Amino acid sequence: MMMPTRTTPTRAAITALLLPFVALSAQSVPSAQEAGLQSLLTDRPLLHVARFQHAPQLDGGLNDSEWADAQVATPFWHFQTGAQSKHDTWAKIGLDEEALYIAFRCAEAEMPKLTFGPLPPDSMSLFARDHVELFLMPDALKPTFYHFSVDVAGNRHEERGSDGSWGCDWEAAVHREAGAWSVEMRIPRAKIGLDTPRLSLVNFCRTRRLEPQETSAWSKTFGVFHNPTRFGRLVYGPPSDVRFAAVSLRQPRAGENQVEVSVAGVKEPALVRVRGYVLRGNELSPFGARELRLREGDESSVSLPLRVERDAKARVAVVLERDGRVLTFCDAAEVSLSGAKATPIRKVLEPAAAPFMQWIDTDRLRGISYGFGFTGAMPDGDLTKADAPGGATRETLHLRGESYFKVLVEESEEIRFDVAAAAGDSPFTSSTYAVFGPEGKLLGKGLVEAGATCGVRVPTETAGMHTVLINSGPASWNPFSITLRNTHWVLNARGKSTYVHTPVSLHSLRDCKLAGFNVALVAAWQWGIPFADEEGLATLNDMLERLCQAAQDAGIKLIPYFGWGCAKTESAAGGDHVRALTRLSVRGPHPCPVSREYWERTFLRRAMLVAQLSKKYPCVLGIGLDPESYYFGNWYNEHLESAEEKGRAGAIYQPYGSSREKCVCDECLHGLLKSKGLPDPNLPEDGNVRFDWIAKEGLLDDLCAYQQAQLEATTQIVRARVQAVNPSLCFAGLLLTCADNWFCRGLSRGLGTSRVPALDFDETTYTSGYSTDAVQTRLDRYEQWNAHVVHGGCLWGLKHPPHNPHFLAAQMYNFALYGHGYWFWPGSMSVWRSADEVAGYYSLSGYPEDYWKSFVVANQEIDKRLANPDTYRSPLDRLEERPTIPEQPKERNEWAEKPCYPVHMYPGTRLSFIVPAGRKSVRVEWGYRETLGDRTLLVSVAGTEHHLSATVEAEKANRAELDVPEGGCAGWVELLGEAGGCVGVKLEGAKPFFGGGGGVKLR
Ligand SMILES: [Zn+2]
Repeated sequence: MMMPTRTTPTRAAITALLLPFVALSAQSVPSAQEAGLQSLLTDRPLLHVARFQHAPQLDGGLNDSEWADAQVATPFWHFQTGAQSKHDTWAKIGLDEEALYIAFRCAEAEMPKLTFGPLPPDSMSLFARDHVELFLMPDALKPTFYHFSVDVAGNRHEERGSDGSWGCDWEAAVHREAGAWSVEMRIPRAKIGLDTPRLSLVNFCRTRRLEPQETSAWSKTFGVFHNPTRFGRLVYGPPSDVRFAAVSLRQPRAGENQVEVSVAGVKEPALVRVRGYVLRGNELSPFGARELRLREGDESSVSLPLRVERDAKARVAVVLERDGRVLTFCDAAEVSLSGAKATPIRKVLEPAAAPFMQWIDTDRLRGISYGFGFTGAMPDGDLTKADAPGGATRETLHLRGESYFKVLVEESEEIRFDVAAAAGDSPFTSSTYAVFGPEGKLLGKGLVEAGATCGVRVPTETAGMHTVLINSGPASWNPFSITLRNTHWVLNARGKSTYVHTPVSLHSLRDCKLAGFNVALVAAWQWGIPFADEEGLATLNDMLERLCQAAQDAGIKLIPYFGWGCAKTESAAGGDHVRALTRLSVRGPHPCPVSREYWERTFLRRAMLVAQLSKKYPCVLGIGLDPESYYFGNWYNEHLESAEEKGRAGAIYQPYGSSREKCVCDECLHGLLKSKGLPDPNLPEDGNVRFDWIAKEGLLDDLCAYQQAQLEATTQIVRARVQAVNPSLCFAGLLLTCADNWFCRGLSRGLGTSRVPALDFDETTYTSGYSTDAVQTRLDRYEQWNAHVVHGGCLWGLKHPPHNPHFLAAQMYNFALYGHGYWFWPGSMSVWRSADEVAGYYSLSGYPEDYWKSFVVANQEIDKRLANPDTYRSPLDRLEERPTIPEQPKERNEWAEKPCYPVHMYPGTRLSFIVPAGRKSVRVEWGYRETLGDRTLLVSVAGTEHHLSATVEAEKANRAELDVPEGGCAGWVELLGEAGGCVGVKLEGAKPFFGGGGGVKLR
């Protein structure tokens, strides 16, 4: 038997991750005083720079007495997730008259495995080895920063910003010993403009290349290191007890404002000076310097007047000085000046818009996008009547978050349970429940308010295995207690993952509605259902109807969207359509993008199904089109080899960069000639010859104009046919670009009218997110096109992490208030990501629970602001610069590697299991995101009790391997200790099903 492994505490990591939300939740119901305040304090760490009497000897050894007194910058944090580093690293910094000195110490258990050896001077190859990096912005109020790197062999690289051609005369030395390596750097102050150091920004970073690789930094970057807005702070001189208790901007609006500064930690009376600075681009202007007399033990406050121009962007920094020396500073926090506008909320719709579209004005587009199938069978599981205990005990389970119970019912037996909802730390306070029949049909659902207990009785329609789901989606943080009254039931410990692609996954639309979304975009083309023949079309119709029913049950508006192009099913349905002819001179299945016949056979054919269904299901808002599918699909991967070729194929309808690929098929060529009144030059059927001729004649722009007119006419026909069935249906496009190209213009003009505008689920904001410019340039574009379009800017979960509400939630909030709305992608992953799931392109940069929290906070704040546009001030008015997440991992990503425990246990809960015959041992794993301090798991196997003691940790697994008798046995797990918090548990080698009352016997 192995002893459980004890892991490194990560209390600080978890507290830091949770704090922003705790603070935000507290503010989300603001008191009168709080209502107008926007906090400018940031979470960047602060380090004091020691003054050295003697320069340390530069040998990498860190033995000089100078280093002993310097403050330590530690711990380091994972550069993407913000979780605490698994490898101990610290850094120190000091200076004398001549130079700045930096020390790093990197613990390394596998020193002999590191890669050494010299490299050419300034070689970038050092980044492929174990190395440390220093980022330094010598003056926090100026934009220039420097980057110094040293690898484990002592090779060096330096740059200014990202300018690698910059160089300076600096030194570094490395010392290596068993278990660690260390670095000393010496950087001449004059070379980096550090003449009179006052306040600097800094980050210390380390990359470990041995497996498991890890890149970490002292100040959390949530992405790439070249990001000064995430650097930590440096103050020169010894630490002071004096600190900012609060720095906030009161009522940010055009004109005069007050920055309110509170100072605390005063040990003796002192006179300090508070200075404010506004940074706009490279321009720095001081504002409102004030003296402040501090009294011992008291918190003292002062207001600095700040004048803010309308629509200007600004970053505000506040500095606290005594006797000319900086004690501390609040680095430049962005002031939300969009929130400064007196009447910021634009009227979205034109007066001509149909009444049924008016909700966009009052609610805004709040979309979430899905791609999932739901035809999988419901898990039947192993619970049978014969195995279940007679007269089951009525034991109450205390659980947390998404939990699935399987309940076996007899003919006409009701599902019965009591749910008590406890108040969690989530902004969504209720518990949720839903009951599904054996085929996944929704039989009942409801909410239980925090603090309340609800007795639930749901009639069933057939005998068999039913599913009870408690606390999914926005409720997935919430604790609850449940007492099941049916005789035969188990808690499905595999939970979520067994319901992916079953009808239960449709129910996640309800979670989206509860989290405040109002529209779900569902990628119906991903189902891959052939629709060329009537039978296929009928199957597609059935699927769409189930989707509509689920959206109706959820109370959310629905837009199913389709592909258009050469995905397999579209190609098949297109039949004998006109193929595109391009410079690639390969006739693939991809259609001429303006072929009317193709539009009718593929898009319109499916749109008409939705139109018919919309008469029965009023939740259907419209029909969507994802033109991106034009160029993915097997054919492209098989026939086009280079990325360039694939890019050119996509550029047929959408110019990418300088590529001007066009369709020059007979229809397009002759249509163009006819529209210009030109004779037919009898060109051969060769894309290159035709394209070159059109270019030589100066007709490329005319070709675009011709194709635009054709597309507009075709999509008008599609729209008219659909709206003849239901005049309220709108069209939504995942328009790929707002570049001024013929495809977007033609599509927007054809699909939108002043009465029923088209909805643009704009993908160009995937990574850039919200900005005043991002919204305005797109609205201007639609106006130039004379197109009627509502703009929804997309936020990509991977690029907009939820760790801090000012990253994701504030993006959603600002898009909704200052544009027309937002949509989030990929919604399916936030719902369904579980332990053994996906990653890469579809991955997220955080836990699903964090995303739900962001969704709820954002949508609650949008509601409050829309209800009180002139007076309500939201914490989300502050939009922090999006941290830069580097390119997504290609394979499984490391966030998905984190342990995920299917059962969340509370103290006092006993969960039982069966170990089948033939097993030699059972493995117990436990852990969770919260740190609970030391806890004990009591595990009983075949009557022998094991006390497994371990700190319940966030990121690492605790494991124990317990021996079992050969013939199989029963056992149970309990979490000991006082109430509060929970622990996730996973069993291997035991049937991962749990039941109440001493164990349900399982096959
Ligand atoms: Zn064509």
